[in-house]
Amino acid sequence: MAFPPPPGFHEPHHAGCLNYTAEDFAADIAAAEQSLTRSPRMRSGASPDLWYPQADRSIHMKALGEYPMGYPQGAVIHSTEGRSLKGDQDLLNTMDEGRRKGYAYFGISRTGKVFQSLPLSEWGAHAGATRHSELGERLSSRLVGIEVASAGVVRNFTGGYRPEWNETFDSSQVRYVPIGGNVTEAGYYVAFSPEQELALRNLLLWLHQNNPDVFKLENVLGHDEVAVDSQGRLGRKQDPGGGLSMRMEDYRCYLIGEAGGVGSTGTFRSAPAAVAPISSPAVASGLSWDLAFRLASVSKMTYLEGDVIEKTLTNS
Ligand SMILES: [Zn+2]
Repeated sequence: MAFPPPPGFHEPHHAGCLNYTAEDFAADIAAAEQSLTRSPRMRSGASPDLWYPQADRSIHMKALGEYPMGYPQGAVIHSTEGRSLKGDQDLLNTMDEGRRKGYAYFGISRTGKVFQSLPLSEWGAHAGATRHSELGERLSSRLVGIEVASAGVVRNFTGGYRPEWNETFDSSQVRYVPIGGNVTEAGYYVAFSPEQELALRNLLLWLHQNNPDVFKLENVLGHDEVAVDSQGRLGRKQDPGGGLSMRMEDYRCYLIGEAGGVGSTGTFRSAPAAVAPISSPAVASGLSWDLAFRLASVSKMTYLEGDVIEKTLTNS
């Protein structure tokens, strides 16, 4: 029986568009601090905007404090590892539960609707124990959390793919992703819907453009990249894992390309052209990175490496 390929996952890596050093991060932080001094209105809410214009604000979540720079310096991408097939209602249920547990974050439902639960000057709990080489620990207080409603890792069984609860996904809704980069667990992941991919991109670009001195696209991190256990080791979390259509390193390059290439501080080592178009033979040469991404999001085009295809066939 033919096995329809899962939605595209961008391989191989497009590493190298960023060569960010400790000095670059320090320069960004210094610039952001000056920006705060230069713009005292920032904390008042007059500038920058503290609410995403497209966001639904129908659920409020509790802040634990104000961001040190008045605005998040980046974002942590999560997936809810929960229900999503009932769209907005599933996300609202998840956020209501999160609210009762004291969490606070943005949410993106499977329909692509964005929910903002607190103003951008205030931070809330979403990432738990975390570690980053330059940004330090306890990243919830510096980076805004964005929860994409999606099941995460699912198991292959007769008739489809299932998480630990009674949702069922077909092969067009999942993708097999091997270990690499931020993905620490190989397996079938429920793919973020095209609407979610687009909403996430638009939100992240707006967060940056709304306050470019403070919110840095190189600080858009996966929860799986920063979540540590009690011994300080990575591997505590698998989100977003293979739910996102690219590994996080590639995604940062993609976002920077979308934002116009050279970062607002001009400290990027390489020009936007260094974000190479997808080189897989499955993609016509000359296809722009942006177009290729959109196509991958909406079609079943595969950029799978041999071992992935093999695994897919083995499981069919
Ligand atoms: Zn998470």
